[in-house]
Amino acid sequence: MSTNKPAIDREEKNAIVGGTLYLVATPIGNLADLSERAIKTLSEVDFVAAEDTRNSGKLLSCFGISKPMVSYHEHNKKERGEGIVSRLLAGESCALVTDAGTPAISDPGEDLVRLCAERGVPVTSVPGACAAVNALALSGLATGKFVFEGFLPVPKSERRERLEELSGEKRTMILYEAPHKLRTTLNDLLETFGNRKIALCRELTKLNEEIYRTTLEAAVETYREREPRGEYVLILEGGEGKKKECFFAHMTVEEHVAHYMAGGMSKMDATKAVAKDRGVPKNEIYRKINT
Ligand code: SAM
Repeated sequence: MSTNKPAIDREEKNAIVGGTLYLVATPIGNLADLSERAIKTLSEVDFVAAEDTRNSGKLLSCFGISKPMVSYHEHNKKERGEGIVSRLLAGESCALVTDAGTPAISDPGEDLVRLCAERGVPVTSVPGACAAVNALALSGLATGKFVFEGFLPVPKSERRERLEELSGEKRTMILYEAPHKLRTTLNDLLETFGNRKIALCRELTKLNEEIYRTTLEAAVETYREREPRGEYVLILEGGEGKKKECFFAHMTVEEHVAHYMAGGMSKMDATKAVAKDRGVPKNEIYRKINT
């Protein structure tokens, strides 16, 4: 019997089902990457939850879709998540979209999926672009085993801890980074990992897409001159598995201060240096060594 669609279509999950959350991947730069199925889903669900309703509203209108929207982002995810789940439990269908790429990957979608799982709400995905996976595939580095780290923490002590943990990582590492933090991150990576291969994947799927396959030293050098622009995914080569420990890892604060003083620093300068090393305010160190 002949049908319009190939037989394999009968295996597909296409119908929009009430009470279901759809994670709809949106383009990471190139509008043509919004899939046919994503358009269908966005057109047919009861409402769309979006990280930024203005951004996503523009995307939807490019495809002639007009839908009731609710915002769901980092700062309202707790109470808004409950509202969305109540509507799902009442039988409505919802598409979750974020600013770009796959919802729940380095954005608040993660919490909504968890909440749905806890409340027995079915969740399904309409896959598409994800910056991390695309960058990994393009990097030219080992793809067999990898670890996704998203954004490194910004507070110094947390960042140091994270990097120290990663220093023993054998798998290829995937990091997201904003342009204004790129130089600092490259310097921190070089300091932690030494010179090793890195691929800087910039503006993927956009007009100025660039895959810069290089070493950490060369990347630091390049970006001394060059202004970082656009969005980056950093793909870093894995190591031999030897964890790097900072020299003060087993020192008490007092021993750490004494270490600098033995090198000729005044107590005040040693206190400042210790605070910098540990990423804490200097009065905290001062208090510790004077009580
Ligand atoms: N959920 C998204 C995904 O699936 O990739 C990631 C969201 S995260 C908040 C945003 C980060 O993804 C950016 O800071 C950048 O590191 C990376 N990114 C997004 N689009 C990109 C692109 N076109 N090229 C390179 N990196 C991109």
